[in-house]
Amino acid sequence: MNRPSQKMLQPDGLESWLHPKQNPLIISGPCSAESHEQVMATARQLHDTGLVSAFRSGVWKPRTRPGAFEGHGERALQWLREVHQEFGFPIAVEVATPKHIEACLKAGIHILWIGARTSVNPFSVQELAEALKGVDIPVMVKNPLNPDLALWAGVIERFYINGIRKIAAVHRGFNTYEKSRFRNEPLWNIPIRLKSMFPELPVLCDPSHIAGRRSLLHEVAQQALLLDMDGLMIEAHHNPPEALTDAAQQLTPKNLVSLIQKLKIPVSPPLNPCMELEKLRSKIDEFDSQLINILAMRMQIVNEIAQYKKDCKMTVFQLRRWNTIIETRLQEGVQKGLSEQFLRSLLDLIHKESIELQSKIIT
Ligand code: PEP
Ligand code: MN
Repeated sequence: MNRPSQKMLQPDGLESWLHPKQNPLIISGPCSAESHEQVMATARQLHDTGLVSAFRSGVWKPRTRPGAFEGHGERALQWLREVHQEFGFPIAVEVATPKHIEACLKAGIHILWIGARTSVNPFSVQELAEALKGVDIPVMVKNPLNPDLALWAGVIERFYINGIRKIAAVHRGFNTYEKSRFRNEPLWNIPIRLKSMFPELPVLCDPSHIAGRRSLLHEVAQQALLLDMDGLMIEAHHNPPEALTDAAQQLTPKNLVSLIQKLKIPVSPPLNPCMELEKLRSKIDEFDSQLINILAMRMQIVNEIAQYKKDCKMTVFQLRRWNTIIETRLQEGVQKGLSEQFLRSLLDLIHKESIELQSKIIT
C-alpha cells in the first residue's frame, strides 16, 4: 500500500478521543499494574486530583533481561476495567503483539500504545497495524529507542494506512551512546521535526522515561510545554519506592499535583504576532541573512584553498590548523557569551562541509 503524503496525514484531533481535565492534558497511572490493590489505590488518588484525563498502565512489561517482573497480563486488564467502572477514566495499555491487541479489545480497553521497543521493528508494527484494520481505537506511538525520525514516522504511517485515525505520537527520549543525566536523551529536535512533517499530528511528551528520576521530571515537563507539545504522560504510583518497575521515576499522585502546579503554562502563538515580536524577528531575519552571506563567502575561500592544496599535492585535513581554529574561535566565542558546546558543534559542521568540498575539488 502507498505511503500517505505528509500533508495527507490528517489524524482526528486529540479532543475527539481525550477530554482535557486540565491544561496541560495529563495521562497518568503506574508503570505496571502490580496488583488489584495497587491499581485501585493509585487510580483513586489520581481521580481525587481532578487533573487526569486518562489512566495508563502496562500489563505486559518488556524487560531488558529475563527474570524481572513482566506484568500480570490479561488478569490485570480486569483490574483496569474496574478502574474505568469506578472512576470513569479511559484506560490506556501498551500492546506489543496481535494477541495483546485481541485481549485488550476483548476487555474493552479504550486506548492502545506502542512501546519504544516495539516501534523499532517494522515487522511487529505492520502486524499490529493489520490487527487493527477496521477497528476505531486510539493508538499512541512512542518514539523508537534509537534516534531515527524516519522509523518513528514509519510507525505512524503504518497505522494510518490501516485506517487508524485517532493517533498521537509520544516522545519518551532516545537511547544514545553517550550517557547523560537523562535516562533517555530528549533530543528535542526529533519531535520538533516530526511535528513539522505531520503538522496535524498530536505529539505528547512522556517526561518519566526521559528523566528516569523524579528530580528531573519538572524540568523535562516544562521544556515539553515550552515546545508546544499537546500533553504529558507521567507515571504515578501510590507508593513509588515499592514499585516493581521504574521505581525511581514514578510520582505519588500528590507530588504529581505539585509538579503540575509548578509548571509555567505558555500560550500557543496567536495567528498575528504582536509588533514587538515582529520587530525582534525582523532583526533575526537580517542577522540570518548576514550569516548566510558570510558562510557563502567563507566557502568561496575554501574553494581557492582546495585549488592551492591540489596544486601542491597537500592533504586536505591538517591537524595543526584545525587545532588552531578550534582554540581561537572557542576563545573568542566564549568571551562573547556563546556556549562552548554550541561553538564546537557549529565549527564541526562548518569544518565537515569544508572537508567534503575540498575533497570533491581535489579528486
Ligand atoms: C512504559 O511506558 O512503561 C514503557 C515501557 O515505556 P517505553 O516503551 O517508552 O520504554
Ligand atoms: Mn515505565
